[in-house]
Amino acid sequence: MYRICSFFLLALAAAAQPANQPADVIWSGRYVITMDAQRRVIENGAVAIRGDRILAVGPKAEIDARYQAKQRLDRPEAIIAPGLINTHTHAAMSLFRGIADDLTLQDWLTKFIFPAEAKNVTPDFVRWGTRLGCLEMLLSGTTTYTDMYYFEDVVAEATKEAGMRGVLGETIIGFPVADNKTPADALVFTEKFLKRFQNDPLIVAAVAPHALYTNSDETLKASRALANKYQAPLVIHLSETKKENDDEQAKRHASPTKTLDDLGVWNGRSVAAHGVWVSEADMAILKARGVGVAHCPSSNMKLASGVAPVTRMLALDMKVGLGPDGPAGSNNDLNLFEEMDLAAKLQNVTTMNPQALPASQALEMATIRGARALGMEKEIGSLEAGKRADLITVRIDSAHGQPLYDAVSQMVYALKGSDVRDVMVNGKPVVRDGKSLTLNEQAILQKAAEYRAKVSASLKN
Ligand SMILES: [Zn+2]
Repeated sequence: MYRICSFFLLALAAAAQPANQPADVIWSGRYVITMDAQRRVIENGAVAIRGDRILAVGPKAEIDARYQAKQRLDRPEAIIAPGLINTHTHAAMSLFRGIADDLTLQDWLTKFIFPAEAKNVTPDFVRWGTRLGCLEMLLSGTTTYTDMYYFEDVVAEATKEAGMRGVLGETIIGFPVADNKTPADALVFTEKFLKRFQNDPLIVAAVAPHALYTNSDETLKASRALANKYQAPLVIHLSETKKENDDEQAKRHASPTKTLDDLGVWNGRSVAAHGVWVSEADMAILKARGVGVAHCPSSNMKLASGVAPVTRMLALDMKVGLGPDGPAGSNNDLNLFEEMDLAAKLQNVTTMNPQALPASQALEMATIRGARALGMEKEIGSLEAGKRADLITVRIDSAHGQPLYDAVSQMVYALKGSDVRDVMVNGKPVVRDGKSLTLNEQAILQKAAEYRAKVSASLKN
């Protein structure tokens, strides 16, 4: 009799509330910033995860009632947010951090970076440089990054080792570099790379011609054709400096955006870094072709490249993300919290309008809009059921984290990358309590010191 009764009661309870569904992990926090379509911020919220996907997001009490998790992480003094998305960088250049500062892009590149790269860039350099970059990015809450460098197969291996998500492309450039001596070699390398990382859970292989001014028209067309053959994104630098535009005007009486459009380079998934010197007509082209733009405020400010018309891009609902660009002289770090803060303030001060780029839009650019820029918005960029489990916790129990009136404002204007406490990518914890679980921090810092000595010596010869 008792058995029948208890069975009956359990059945009734199950009908009312589908309790105890299995989950692998539940994370709870004081606030969950979802970045979903309603931009919900849930106070005392939680996220349930199974495998590499998010099962559900909601109030903690509701999630706890519905799901039984094998593991849980409760952070009553933290914000849970989507992992941040970096849409443009060169991670391995971390080993050149601070090598030469306070120069124009042209001087910095031709007098320091290109010679230093010629003497130092090897697979080992790229492996340790990428590990250092991934360590910095993960510890400051970036879960996906977009990269363009050399030995990109090694970059991909180091990224997978870190457990990070990467949109990665081998630089295709019109002069001999460390790994490929010609653009044709780089294209062959890229095709092998695209094949090797097809359907990888973490790596999206891309095609990465450096820029219009460093490649022939033939190379640019071949890059687009190759990207489309593998449904891969094409990533490129675009109108970063006024000089780039002036040169193209002198050469063809057109803007770089227009020339690339005429060459068919925008006919497919594309991400253009910088877009500082783009006109209204250029923006119309980029919008029509669905090109993602990687806005890099620190880099543009440090190199005095100019101010990208981001407020206008957002008004046009263009796909704009954020990137720290180079850690070696054009930034010099890989911290997206800083990019969010500067993106907002740069637009405000240059338009003399404190509402030009509000905090909510800055956070959007670092999350869901950045995902759109990469063509990955169905998978990442917000905390929603069915999406990949890429999320972070950010502590708010600090002098600069309290009091908290608005979690989004706090993320953009007050909290720092160093406040990131836990990071999960693709359902796997990669940072716990501010410590990397995947990378050997001590070994990486040791190697960074060794490379500093090597690089310094090489520049004296
Ligand atoms: Zn760049």
